[in-house]
Amino acid sequence: MTPFTYTALPSRVVFGAGSLQQLGREIEAIGATRALVLSTPEQVASARRVAALLGERAVGVFSEARMHVPIDTARAARAEARRLGADCAVAIGGGSTIGLGKAIALEAADGGFPIIAIPTTYAGSEMTSIYGLTEGGVKKTGRDPKVLPRSVLYDPELTLTLPIGMTLTSALNAIAHAAEGLYAHDGNPIIALMAEEGIRAAAAALPKLAADPHDLEARSDALYAAWLCGSVLGNVSMGLHHKLCHTLGGTFDLPHAEVHTVVLPHALAYNAAAAPEAMRRIGRALGLGADAGAEAPGAVFDLARAHGAPVALRDIGMPESGLDRAADLAVQNRYPNPRPLEHAAIRALLQRAFDGTRPAPPDTAG
Ligand code: NAD
Repeated sequence: MTPFTYTALPSRVVFGAGSLQQLGREIEAIGATRALVLSTPEQVASARRVAALLGERAVGVFSEARMHVPIDTARAARAEARRLGADCAVAIGGGSTIGLGKAIALEAADGGFPIIAIPTTYAGSEMTSIYGLTEGGVKKTGRDPKVLPRSVLYDPELTLTLPIGMTLTSALNAIAHAAEGLYAHDGNPIIALMAEEGIRAAAAALPKLAADPHDLEARSDALYAAWLCGSVLGNVSMGLHHKLCHTLGGTFDLPHAEVHTVVLPHALAYNAAAAPEAMRRIGRALGLGADAGAEAPGAVFDLARAHGAPVALRDIGMPESGLDRAADLAVQNRYPNPRPLEHAAIRALLQRAFDGTRPAPPDTAG
């Protein structure tokens, strides 16, 4: 076996329908008494429900979370936390809301500012120590152990309201973490187990959710997948796919989960020949035959298309005139990736993602 290093991230997970009811106990367990509840404006009703559940242990609701954590929103949330004398945050929502909690924790004085995350999408931020802040149109990300949520409540009942479009793209966003984790230069066997199981559980839940978004068992499976895939993201380095999505999302203001959905099959096709074992495992998780790894990128594309998720950058707001710039930006900084970063091949990848062309097996992909 290849030697490896594995560092477990210290977080506690409470999983199951109705687990929201255990929030008070989780707050007590971390020794906090004054929670600031965070949400987006769209989920303010959920945030108020959480505050009501907490009674006097909630000191306020801040419902201004936005995609990519604009610095002004982070400053406003920090000021509100100070003004109210909050000693922890309860973030109920997707990556945007959990990201806002992380922005508060990042600046907290000694002793820290614990976050309890209640994820309602499959983005996986709750399992990582990665934070992001956007200032002057540029999103900077970093890792800091103090932003890792202390406790995570996964309650599938809270995901029943996630619109079906977002359900599909968010689950594919989760699959993207796991897929890249399988070929990470710093990967390890534990993370590979989680990644393969995460892809399997997400891919199995998708058709059920497309047929019935209120299927609680399928919602549970998708949230379980989100936990596994988020753990992969939190533990190992991501490659070309995540870098491309970060560039496309930040520079062209494209929606996060949709960009991941569209780009993933093409990034996998780019890496397929250089990462055959990862492709074999992705293929196996998607229910392909034992030797069908080369078909994995196409199968991911089919999974998205079959259920009505977007498959073309042109359909999610990307201007074709931006493809050259995106390719330039993608090769600007070097980072580990199974296949070296080649400008012409990445430009071709972006064109196929723009057009929504189904990826071909590696010997024919450009
Ligand atoms: P999001 O948090 O922006 O949510 C999208 C919309 O869906 C919001 O309006 C939200 O209120 C709504 N929503 C969420 N859950 C809902 C539910 N159950 N019912 C109804 N509406 C619901 O989307 P996201 O994809 O979860 O997060 C994207 C952001 O998270 C990006 O900024 C991305 O960079 C970041 N992210 C960070 C990490 C990390 O490790 N730091 C990981 C993944 C994503």
